[in-house]
Amino acid sequence: MAVMEFELIERYFTGAGSERDDVVLGVGDDAAILSLPVGHELVVSTDTLVSGVHFFPEVDPHSLGHKALAVNLSDLAAMGARPAWVTLALTLPQVDEAWLAAFSQGFAVLAHQHGVQLIGGDTTSGPLSITVQAMGFVEQGCAWRRDAAKPGDLIYVSGTLGDAGLALEAIQQQIAFPQDELIGIISRLEKPTPRIVDALALHGLVNAAIDLSDGLLSDLGHILKASGVGAVIELAQLPLSPAFRACQQNKMASQLSDECWQMLPLSAGDDYELCFTVKRQAQGDVELLLLAQGIEACCIGVIDADTEAGLRCMQKNGEQYQTEQSGYEHFKGSA
Ligand code: ADP
Ligand code: MG
Repeated sequence: MAVMEFELIERYFTGAGSERDDVVLGVGDDAAILSLPVGHELVVSTDTLVSGVHFFPEVDPHSLGHKALAVNLSDLAAMGARPAWVTLALTLPQVDEAWLAAFSQGFAVLAHQHGVQLIGGDTTSGPLSITVQAMGFVEQGCAWRRDAAKPGDLIYVSGTLGDAGLALEAIQQQIAFPQDELIGIISRLEKPTPRIVDALALHGLVNAAIDLSDGLLSDLGHILKASGVGAVIELAQLPLSPAFRACQQNKMASQLSDECWQMLPLSAGDDYELCFTVKRQAQGDVELLLLAQGIEACCIGVIDADTEAGLRCMQKNGEQYQTEQSGYEHFKGSA
């Protein structure tokens, strides 16, 4: 590696995030050394963001640094794990110090917020791409797995759905939504919030969980398939943000079809909310906890044993909502 690259690592990436006691050796040697708490299991996840595929090349680098870490922390949240360490593999087309300073700051601020330390990585030259590996831990046997949903479980989602998808539509189709609302939804796309705090608070109450990176139908479909169960969700219960509702009610709404408005919360990706199931008997405890901790999450449906029917989306009038992208077909197609 060229001297210049050593300097970059030293300047922008050494010591990023929190300084943790369980890091025996961090950035600077051939590998890091970490000590795992007794009685816990290591939870590891990795995600790559490629320029032009996962983000627009001209996107704000501070947001990009945030998002590269956020999508990985979101995976740990979906396992019910406490995040601790991350690595960062960066491929850069050129050395742009202003870009690197902003990117590393966006990354470090979020890492610090969640007590995470950057403990190593790799820096190479080539088309812009960012790979983060996040590591955390859970008490032995306590991770939230996709295959653990049971008939009778209630299905919850955190936060609101469809905001990131709406932002993407607005950018791609150059739709002029009212400025105030647009800023809100664009930040949901560019700077998603990993639901780590929510996940840690729900410890012990969740059966199965997944984070919503590809859209509710697709991601809930993964839980159903892995658990060998079916589900019914109520479309009227899907949580929508005030900004989403405002855009939908505004006259600009006509720039997107009714079908599109209906499908955004169901099938658009990038929201990074949690979808999780809880035993019906735990509902009281869950609702109390959400209230006490100020966590936004709501019940949208119920798991059942009907694997044949898969995922059914019910409308207010009691009829099933049929769509080409229905969870049912998705579930069947991937079975
Ligand atoms: P090696 O050649 O032994 O693989 P490198 O020269 O790639 O090591 O990296 C030197 C040190 O800098 C290592 O500790 C590595 O983990 C760290 N490092 C390299 N790139 C990054 C980065 N983008 N972020 C954080 N640490 C990095
Ligand atoms: Mg290396």
